[in-house]
Amino acid sequence: MNMRWSLNELYTSFDSEEYQGDLQKFDEGLGSFIQWADKNLKSPDNPQEKITEYLNRLIELSTLVSKLMAYPRLISSVEANNELALKYLDKLQVQYSKFTQPSVQFQKFISTLDNLDEIINSSPFLREHEFYLNETKKKAQYLLSEKEEVLISKMKNTGSNAWSNLQGVLSSTLLVDIEIDGKPKQLPLPVVRNMAFDKDPNIRQKAYEAELKSYDKIAKSSAAALNGIKGEVLTISEMRGFKSPLEETLFKSRMDEETLDAIIRAIEEYLPIFHKYYRKKGELLGHRNGLPFYDIFAPIGNAIKSYTYEEARKFIVVNFRTFSDRLADFADNAFENRWIDAEPRDGKRGGAFCFNLYPIKESRILANFNGSLSNVITLAHELGHGYHGLCIQEESILNSSYPMPLAETASIFCETIVMNAVLNEASPEEQLSILESSLQDAGQVIVDIYSRFLFEKELFERRKEHSLSVNELKEIMIESQKKAYGNGLDENYLHPYMWINKPHYYYGERNFYNFPYAFGLLFSKGLYVEYLNDKKNFVKRYDDFLRATGKNNIVDVAKLMGIDVHSPDFFKDSLKLIEKDIDKFIDLIENRK
Ligand SMILES: [Zn+2]
Repeated sequence: MNMRWSLNELYTSFDSEEYQGDLQKFDEGLGSFIQWADKNLKSPDNPQEKITEYLNRLIELSTLVSKLMAYPRLISSVEANNELALKYLDKLQVQYSKFTQPSVQFQKFISTLDNLDEIINSSPFLREHEFYLNETKKKAQYLLSEKEEVLISKMKNTGSNAWSNLQGVLSSTLLVDIEIDGKPKQLPLPVVRNMAFDKDPNIRQKAYEAELKSYDKIAKSSAAALNGIKGEVLTISEMRGFKSPLEETLFKSRMDEETLDAIIRAIEEYLPIFHKYYRKKGELLGHRNGLPFYDIFAPIGNAIKSYTYEEARKFIVVNFRTFSDRLADFADNAFENRWIDAEPRDGKRGGAFCFNLYPIKESRILANFNGSLSNVITLAHELGHGYHGLCIQEESILNSSYPMPLAETASIFCETIVMNAVLNEASPEEQLSILESSLQDAGQVIVDIYSRFLFEKELFERRKEHSLSVNELKEIMIESQKKAYGNGLDENYLHPYMWINKPHYYYGERNFYNFPYAFGLLFSKGLYVEYLNDKKNFVKRYDDFLRATGKNNIVDVAKLMGIDVHSPDFFKDSLKLIEKDIDKFIDLIENRK
């Protein structure tokens, strides 16, 4: 079976008539769009006509540019050194930033209209884009003058973006001094961090100690970068009129404070359950005082079987079919028509992703398949993203981008279907291993994410007053971990430098890039409970729901599934599922002896 994807459905080459033709069409269309906006959006007459014209042009250009960009993006993900792809990508990104001006002008235009509702209701086409238009108007409240907006976006390149690049270079070039087999070595940070998954306890501990020590080399410069970025975020967020960066993040996530409070309250109530799991794992590994940080990822159990690519396909398709034919056929088609690049090879990036190709109504999935169970689960996860794309592509392209907290709904849902099937067929020893690795993940998404949320909140609070020293950052991190992990972890072996290690803190555009993960996991698990309760009626509602994720606030779209995200009880029900797994994990260990 061919394990490389085909991109011919997009373009056959950069030199092809199609690619060059589209490129030219885009350049011309964008130029004319900018001129049109400049000429027409400065006066408020004929709003219905102008909005219609703006949307039509935007739809055409968005479709074109997303197709043009997808091609070099996908190519460079499997050929890191393809210079042509990088060149086109760079060129398109520069072009893309030119959308800022007409978009700011449009926001200003819309914000002056008192009768937007009336205008929207005047045509089916505008009604179709109701959410987009209303959101645009809301965004305009936080817009600064055109001059300020342009200045900010330029200054970011020498501010937060530059700090973020520096941090990227620091952490990716950091070499860790570590002794391997009695010989001193210098290894890249990711290699040493990966040793946390090693079977040998000595290696795990040694890697942790070496890792912590290595951060001394970049702690001061990382702190400077972090202070620079968070300082900039605070300044701009305040200028725009947000109460705090958290409020801004919630606004961008289409989520309200009540929903965030509900999740946080539910998580806080269930933390002790996770502590039980960590302590049990600690005992199993011979620790008396809770689990040390370096053993969080220690593998438990063994004897996991492996899969060929063909077997993985069959297993996924058969189990997806228990959900619906549409899902199963979608997955089967993705394998059959080479939408998946699964073969690991030099120059290809690691990990996995799914890329929805709206313009051609397809998706492409990148994975690095080596036959492990976790690879099979990953494929199911990415196919879930693809399925989300399938449902949403029936909408206008302007209704097709969904907020971060909803991004992992379909993927985790598909993962759960396959994971449960695996557990059903597994021996007790395999079950233990599978359950433990899924608890490891849940612990990261709930407990560790909670610590990151606490850390970032405190960081912003203090950064308002002054820059933070390395010691202060370490202290806040340790305090946050103590609150999150409680007596689950041994407090003498925490990780004071997680703020250097996680890149999420260094994205100027994405603050609090933590709670969306927790929301995603708990929301998806909650949906799965709904599915188990009413399999017959669920499937159609679920498809409609996925289709609507790009044109609703979270609270409204959840209502489509009968879910009230303002209620902590909804999230607690999902956490109860994890509690059940923890109980089962403890059971399996106790019956093992
Ligand atoms: Zn995902």
